[in-house]
Amino acid sequence: MSETLQPADGETRRLSRSRRIAVKIGSSLLVADGQLKRAWLAALCDDLAMLSRAGAELIVISSGAIALGRGVLGLPAGPLRLEQAQAAASVGQVALAQAYAEALGSRGLTAGQILLTLGDTEERRRYLNARETIATLLKLGAVPIVNENDTVATSEIRYGDNDRLAARVATMCSADCLVLLSDVDGLYTAPPAQDPNAVFLPEVPAITPEIEAMAGAAGSELSRGGMRTKIDAARIATSAGTTMAIASGTRMNPLAAIEEGGRATWFSARATPASARKAWIGGHLEPRGALELDAGAIRAVVSGRSLLPAGVRRIEGTFTRGDAVRIVAPDGRDIGRGIVAYDHPEATMIMGRNSREIETILGYAGRAEMVHRDDLVLRYQPAGPCPIDETTEEERGHA
Ligand code: GLU
Repeated sequence: MSETLQPADGETRRLSRSRRIAVKIGSSLLVADGQLKRAWLAALCDDLAMLSRAGAELIVISSGAIALGRGVLGLPAGPLRLEQAQAAASVGQVALAQAYAEALGSRGLTAGQILLTLGDTEERRRYLNARETIATLLKLGAVPIVNENDTVATSEIRYGDNDRLAARVATMCSADCLVLLSDVDGLYTAPPAQDPNAVFLPEVPAITPEIEAMAGAAGSELSRGGMRTKIDAARIATSAGTTMAIASGTRMNPLAAIEEGGRATWFSARATPASARKAWIGGHLEPRGALELDAGAIRAVVSGRSLLPAGVRRIEGTFTRGDAVRIVAPDGRDIGRGIVAYDHPEATMIMGRNSREIETILGYAGRAEMVHRDDLVLRYQPAGPCPIDETTEEERGHA
């Protein structure tokens, strides 16, 4: 990974211009051989204190509980069974929280611990509760230190990686900026270790299929997963109006380095931040099913209209009203997410039918839309113009 690929002369003061900054710390930065890297943490907390003095509110999403706990418990190297990882997290989280409380405390900052599971950031009611607690901590001038609640989360209900958790937390708190610090310094067009022509990307204005392909092509099995979850995080963050940076934290004072224009890949937030509801839908990681649209419905939703039952040609999954579902194009491409207005048996009965027929088919007057446009978040916009199919819309009885 050659430093000559790109001079480290990026824009300066990108962090201190932000009002609310979320910073994700990877385990390998904070823990080596089961031991906390105290000097590194102290330098990081100097950076955080500097940003706090500049007026920013701070949220830290920190990994390291399992790595620290396995050291304390003397667990062997290599993969741990889930229950061993949970036991290690239980021991390590105590040490991790204490380390932050001390390091921040000696710089005049108060730490608060927040442990979350996937459900806390996806289920509407719990999401609102977690958001309220973090907002209150910030209002009181404290720094929330967030990690996954590894001790209670079983495999089906856990994130398993803190990149996506960090993005969910950042968007939940309407942070303007999220920095992912790990041992990779950003996104390249190809795996830099293998391809001498790999080009470092300092700016990613939009997460296109090409950008996703670059993440898929990166490095070893481990780094492939690593970059993929970072791109997932970038999609969640940027679609909610949060700018995201991937930067290396392997040096001391990594945030100060970014402030000075050091190397990072910046993912621009969309010009118009989506509403919080749309962010929640777009970032939903566990859709319960899928709706496959016909070509006319694709044109309608892309032009900002609701998805009507008439435009759905196939249904997958066993969802209930209010669940997130994938929105799929006729060619099988996943084009977005929506909150479905019907349980799947009813959805199956009314799919392909005119909305005026709903009452006759179901025996009650349901909603005209299968997915209301306010509950629809599209991932890709087609390249070309997308005319509205007025005739089809009218035929479908769209009010
Ligand atoms: N929550 C895990 C821990 O604190 C780490 C997950 C991750 O690094 O992505 O050890």
